[in-house]
Amino acid sequence: DADVKKPPTIDGNALVAMSLSRAGIDKMFGVVGIPVTSLATRAVALGVRFIAFHNEQSAGYAASAYGYLTGRPGVLLTVSGPGCVHGIAGLSNAAANAWPMVLISGSSDQSLAGRGDFQELDQIAAVKPFSKFSAKATDITEIPKSVFSVIDWAAAGRPGGTYLDLPTDVLHQTVDESEAERLITEALKSRRKDLIEKPRIDISKIQKAVELLRNAQRPLIVFGKGAAYAKAENELTKLVESTGIPFLPTPMGKGLLPDTHELAATAARSLAIGKCDVAMVVGARLNWLLHFGEPPKWSKDVKFILVDVSEEEIELRKPCLGIVGDAKDVVGMIHKEIKDDPFCFGKTHPWIEAVRNKAKDNVAKMEVQLSKDVVPFNFLTPMRIIRDAILKVGSPTPVVVSEGANTMDVGRGVLVQTEPRTRLDAGTWGTMGVGLGYCIAAAMASPDRLVVAVEGDSGFGFSAMEVETLVRYQLPVVVIVFNNGGVYGGDRRNPDEITGPYKEDPAPTSFVPGAAYHILLEAFGGKGYLAGTPDELRSALAESFSARKPTVINVTIDPYAGAESGRLQHKN
Ligand code: ADP
Repeated sequence: DADVKKPPTIDGNALVAMSLSRAGIDKMFGVVGIPVTSLATRAVALGVRFIAFHNEQSAGYAASAYGYLTGRPGVLLTVSGPGCVHGIAGLSNAAANAWPMVLISGSSDQSLAGRGDFQELDQIAAVKPFSKFSAKATDITEIPKSVFSVIDWAAAGRPGGTYLDLPTDVLHQTVDESEAERLITEALKSRRKDLIEKPRIDISKIQKAVELLRNAQRPLIVFGKGAAYAKAENELTKLVESTGIPFLPTPMGKGLLPDTHELAATAARSLAIGKCDVAMVVGARLNWLLHFGEPPKWSKDVKFILVDVSEEEIELRKPCLGIVGDAKDVVGMIHKEIKDDPFCFGKTHPWIEAVRNKAKDNVAKMEVQLSKDVVPFNFLTPMRIIRDAILKVGSPTPVVVSEGANTMDVGRGVLVQTEPRTRLDAGTWGTMGVGLGYCIAAAMASPDRLVVAVEGDSGFGFSAMEVETLVRYQLPVVVIVFNNGGVYGGDRRNPDEITGPYKEDPAPTSFVPGAAYHILLEAFGGKGYLAGTPDELRSALAESFSARKPTVINVTIDPYAGAESGRLQHKN
């Protein structure tokens, strides 16, 4: 009967889903349960793909990396209380790496606050150290506005994590369809422009930077994952190639210009940073990864030009010449300014020669080590075989995901990156356990690329159950586990440390020797390989790279190869 007024049909869960879809969100990672299961189902019905994980921690790591790879906030959905707490791992990782991500969590009923409701927690307080901006929808009418604001804040300025709190009672409130539409339209209209706009660039600073580069004796261009996020690869390539200045990528900056480029200083890192007199650092912080920009690794007289979207970062590193702005824009402007009055450090310039020769020497020395077939495997032999298999794939090159101590250290030096945003690793925080989440994010962000994870058995174990997720979504992910039976490998204790009532226990660093990680995947219908020799590894790689199906290759490594704590031994 046309006269009967239709009951309100849109509940809070549906309105969140509609708002996410209208904000252009195309993927969501998470674990469903009370009170957000129907949020996920509704979102899927509106074309937002929901990638269901086993643990919110992994899903959160995936959301953070998805934000980095796509340049749009990655969204994590969690249930209240413990779900939210697990998800905070992902949010903190986004904050540390400056990646855009939104954590959306259900929370307990507002009317029962403080009385011990099911999964009750003050989630706004819990996320505080890791959230740039948090919003709580205290009524269904606030939902669209809150959704748009957490998304806009995540990507604004320096990217990072934001949080949206959705109480159960709000998710159960209803409005009718026209009211829902009106709320969304209004919220879209009131989006803050200043959050979406890029910072204005100070042209006088561009000129100063060009003067510094022009007059340098030993210039260097360093770039990091902020430049990768900004998609500054074309501008950086033009700048490097027109000026002849050597470049050094940070680990995740690798690939913006190919590692094989003749001006790559990667293999001459110590010389390049130790001897340069002007270093232009683009989208990379002068933190522990870059030795704080201080002696003894850097010369005390080096002049830094810092390019960063974050004004705070520039303030922090004063008296460097800082240029606040988007890396792509700033590098483009610098290149343009130089083009009017070009200069180039030719191939025979002593600095360029010194860097090139040092890089050549180091590569040659490394190749001698790499060319040996050491069995039982050390780290180098299987890494060389993996490198060669990855190079054979060609363009679009695989995304390499890497974690672990020795496995990541050795991999960073040996694996070759030739395309931007094709390396994901433990990052600014040295976060272990990110591997499978990153693999899933990479497969979702770049469906045309193969994903190859090269990780230690310890890193793999943090979230190994997500191999089921790989199989469920049939993702083209090959996980290579460097299995040396523990964290850093075998029992490395001095005999005099092994005392006390639990001295018969395995060492805190060790796992079950010879663990059959490859069989784990087979439990779900994926493919597993065990590889202990070069031939076995080569054939497993050839088969799995062409099959592009979920695979685990369990590579047996000598438990005493490598160093305790990898490259960071001095910190342990
Ligand atoms: P890496 O680990 O590669 O050294 P960091 O994470 O330390 O890189 O630094 C990345 C930097 O890039 C951060 O300071 C961040 O503010 C900055 N950044 C993020 N997005 C942009 C952008 N679009 N343009 C310039 N800088 C950016």
